[in-house]
Parts: sequence; structure tokens; C-alpha cells
Amino acid sequence: MTPPTHSFEALMEITARPPITFVRGKGSYLWDDTGKRYLDFIQGWAVNCLGHSPSLLAEAISVQAKRLITPSPAFYNDSSLKLAKALTDVSCFDRVFFANSGAEANEGAIKLARKYGSLHKNGAYEIITFEGGFHGRTLATMSASGKKAFEPLFEPKVSGFPKARWNDLASVEELITENTVAVMLEPIQGEAGVWPAGDQFLRDLRALTAAHGLLLIFDEIQTGMGRTGKLFHYEHTGIAPDMMTLGKGIGGGVPLAALLATEAVSCFEHGDQGGTFNGNALMCAAGVAVLEQVAAPAFLKSVTENGLYLESELQRLSARHGLGEVRGRGLLLALDLRMPIAPSIVAAALEGGVLLNAPRHDSLRFMPALNITRQEIDLMIDCLDAVLAKAGVARRVA
Ligand SMILES: *Cc1c(COP(=O)(O)O)cnc(C)c1O
Repeated sequence: MTPPTHSFEALMEITARPPITFVRGKGSYLWDDTGKRYLDFIQGWAVNCLGHSPSLLAEAISVQAKRLITPSPAFYNDSSLKLAKALTDVSCFDRVFFANSGAEANEGAIKLARKYGSLHKNGAYEIITFEGGFHGRTLATMSASGKKAFEPLFEPKVSGFPKARWNDLASVEELITENTVAVMLEPIQGEAGVWPAGDQFLRDLRALTAAHGLLLIFDEIQTGMGRTGKLFHYEHTGIAPDMMTLGKGIGGGVPLAALLATEAVSCFEHGDQGGTFNGNALMCAAGVAVLEQVAAPAFLKSVTENGLYLESELQRLSARHGLGEVRGRGLLLALDLRMPIAPSIVAAALEGGVLLNAPRHDSLRFMPALNITRQEIDLMIDCLDAVLAKAGVARRVA
């Protein structure tokens, strides 16, 4: 059978993509239009927390699509009420605003912090963020990000985001002025290459922000929804942030995100925030189905166990091939290669039918489905072992 031919020219070129067209996915596997199968350790960028096209999600979406897609954001719908209630029941937050992407949820967090500043802190508007941080691709969230490559782009940026150094409390303290209203961070910097904040750093940050009357905002778009073995990463530390944003895994693959805040901070007034698709019944029904599954204690326990297993297998590979540390928590891990060979490793793994991600030239990131099996982890490790062995040989010959 000859594969269908696809033209790539009609899409805007926004990133380098291999000339492969995916047509089907199930669990930890994807198939392209030639029938080749790939074991997926990217999962739509840590989005498909239950794997590709899980029946439970397909069922929830199709049932909801036949019942009600959206009545407009000017009316309540039962799916969004149900999901908002469920999210507040399982977290330390009282109120939810739904969005369609992580960046949009973070925009909401930034706006809510500025609103809080205007009402309660004499117009304070600055939000301290971190070098290396990533919060999205809208103008404000790019401005809040501490990604070097963003710096020269789309000037002038949105002002009011001074950058502190990662895991350096004194550098945060130095930036606090009468204009500061909040501190915002990812508990594990994902896009930067999986750099965890220390648990003690997070506790110290809570104490510091509380002492100065500042809001603490956790961007849990990558770390939330069970990714690190707790439903939300903040639970590892015993602290409670004032706001949290969720994205990626919350929809299990469909566009859904959320901004959560405590009652004291939820100060939007009518007209401040909104959006045509926000809180639509269809996506919220997906969120309800995903949350029911992911919040189950047995599910979270399996994420922790499989995370530890993947971590130990990566450590074994690292020792065997003379590589660097394994970083991260749960099923968000990185392997430091100590050499700028990550893109070639990713290309060789792709050839071998395994999808891996290189957030930096010297490291690989692993973000499989949260319901991945040991056997699938073993298959990825075997492929990576072979690829690394070959790369090692190539280096010695060169
Ligand atoms: C992916 C990500 C975002 C942006 O989410 P989008 O849905 O791509 O807008 C923001 N923050 C973090 C930590 C992320 O990982």
C-alpha cells in the first residue's frame, strides 16, 4: 500500500519537525502514515497523561459532545461547575478560572496578581520570576519567562518581571520593592531542562513572601495533575501557594487549562477576565474524566513507583555510558549527557522508533504517559542503551 502524501507547505514554519505524519495513537504508541510504530516518551509534551486516545477520555468527550458543547461563557454549564468543584476539593484553592492553554492560564494569574496589587497593595504590580523559567508564549508570559532565547524577541516586552536566580533566596529578597506584588515559579523548571526547586527553597520562599505580604504563584502546568507522583507538586513541600496554574495534563490531550486561587486572592471584578471558549462544557467534561482517574491514590502511587523505576534505569544507563546526573521527580525526569549530543541521540532514537525530547543540547527529558508500564520503560531503555552505545563508538572512532 502506498502511503498518502502530505504537503507540509500550507502550515507556517514555527519549529523544525521531522518529515513524519502521525495518523493514530493508542496508549504509549503512535503510528505514522507509513504504518511505522513509535514508543512515545514525549506524549504531546507531557499532555497525554493517560496516553494516546484513552477510551475513558474518548467516551467522555463523545457523550458530552452529543449533550452540550457550549452554552457561552455568559452562562453556567454543569461540566465546568463539576470540574471547578472537584479541583477545589482536591487542592488548597477555593476558586477556578478555566482557560484554553497554559499561557492563557498564566496570563490570568498575572492579571489577578496585578488586580490584587491595585486593590490591596497600593498599585504594586511587579512579579518576581526566575532565570531559566518558562511560562508560555503570549507577550506577557514570554516577558515573565527567563529564557535567554526570548530576550531579543518581540520588543518591547511587558515590563514588571524582574528575574531572580534559581534556588537562590537572597536573589529574590534583593528584588523585593514597594512595587512587588508576587513571586511566580515552576516547582520544577521543565523547558529549561528539568531543574527542580529545592523543597527547602520552596518553603523558604513561602515564608519570605508571607513576611512581605506577597502572593506566591506556582506554575504547575507541567508538574501538576500527578506528573510528580502527587496530584500537585506543592503537596511535596507542605506549603500552600496563593495561586496555581494547570495546563498540559489537565485535559488529557485536549486544550484545557486552569487558574486556581484562594478566596482572599480571587478579586476579579466583572469585565476583568473572560474568553469565548473558557470553561466550555466539552473540554471541562474531558477534565472531569481525567481528574477522576489521576487523583486516585492507587494511580498516584503507581506514578511514584514507575518514576523511581525509570529513574534507577536511567541511572544505570548513566553509569554504564559515563553520563551525568538524573534530575526530576515522578515521571518528569532528565538525563544529563554531559556533552552536546542530545539532538543526535533524539534523531537516532526516532529512527529506532522511540520518541524522546531534548530540552537542551546536553540533556534528554522523559515525560511518558502516567500509566506507562514497566515493559514500555524497559523497551525505551533498551533502545536508548543501543543508541548511546553506538554514539559512544562513533565518538571513539572520531
Ligand atoms: C507548557 C508550559 C506552559 C505553556 O503552556 P501552553 O499550553 O503551551 O500555553 C507554561 N508553563 C509551563 C511550566 C509549561 O510547561
